[in-house]
Amino acid sequence: MIIFSGIQPTGVKHLGNYIGGFLQYVAGQERGDPSIYCIVDLHSITVEYEPAVLRERTYDLFALFIAAGLDPERSVLFRQSDVTEHTELSWLLSSVIPLGTLNRMHQFRDKSTRQREMVRSGLLFYPVLMAADVLAYRANEVPVGEDQREHLEVMRDAARTFNERYGETLVVPEARIPQVGARVLDLQDPTRKMSTTGGTEQGTVYVLDEPDDIRRKFKRAQTDSGREIVRGPDKPGVSNLIEILAVARGGDPADVEREFEGRGYGDLKTAVGDEVADWLAPVRERYHALRSDEDQMETLLADGAERARAMAAPVVAEVRDAMGVGPSRRSVGPAA
Ligand code: ATP
Ligand code: MG
Repeated sequence: MIIFSGIQPTGVKHLGNYIGGFLQYVAGQERGDPSIYCIVDLHSITVEYEPAVLRERTYDLFALFIAAGLDPERSVLFRQSDVTEHTELSWLLSSVIPLGTLNRMHQFRDKSTRQREMVRSGLLFYPVLMAADVLAYRANEVPVGEDQREHLEVMRDAARTFNERYGETLVVPEARIPQVGARVLDLQDPTRKMSTTGGTEQGTVYVLDEPDDIRRKFKRAQTDSGREIVRGPDKPGVSNLIEILAVARGGDPADVEREFEGRGYGDLKTAVGDEVADWLAPVRERYHALRSDEDQMETLLADGAERARAMAAPVVAEVRDAMGVGPSRRSVGPAA
């Protein structure tokens, strides 16, 4: 079982990333052989950004990986741009991914309408690079949040089309989306997902927020009409709080509903705020202890990149060979 996932070093990581991403990455560490987690800096340059800040955010994210419980010996942890096979494979895959598909992607549509200046062609190409990230490792499983389901379909189609056109080479990966917490919603605007780019400041709970700020954000969360604490399509705000509380406790949302029967929204908001603040506090503390040693992080990243390259390079060589790009591998050196 090869597990792969990537996460952008854009902005500051939030509770949605923690639940849809980190929690699943840590769980995947038990099952993956190997589990591979990548800081996808090349995805972060598809919207407006500051070069110096991007570098800082890469260290922030790596320290958060470790603080959340990822172990650089058990998992392969690395930075996307260190392994150039990703960019090469993305170009090769562009020959099996239709332009029409990319044009229809929700992420492209949402982010391109928000972009005030130039919409970069890289934003359109994002799912192609993401397909390369995963397919380069012949990964079986990709832990992500619900918002990435569409991009997973693109890479699955790409692998199938590639195999039909050029011969069986790539593995068709499965998305692994959590049962609860797959789409954590913005606390101030529960019609939208909690997001790094484009959420509301007060509706976004950051993993590194101080406990008091976390409690305050939950206290001010938007709730819905009615008074019952139950999940439902007409209650996005309350459903979101119920799910978050369940995940933070490692329990079931139905138990939360039973527990809060007959109680008010205010009680629920206080309970979620307290629970999440306590849950994230040790992560924040570990993070601050790790973040200052950038040299140590570079050493670990270099080691991770070397292990990643050793896996990706032979796959990309096979892709190249199957596509007739470059000399036949049979003619260069001993039989492959
Ligand atoms: P952006 O809004 O710029 O796309 P992001 O917050 O989605 O940023 P990513 O790095 O794109 O961050 O996503 C990292 C992981 O977090 C992905 O697996 C994604 O599915 C997951 N994720 C992001 N937002 C949420 C959310 N609100 N609920 C659950 N999972 C989420
Ligand atoms: Mg995203």
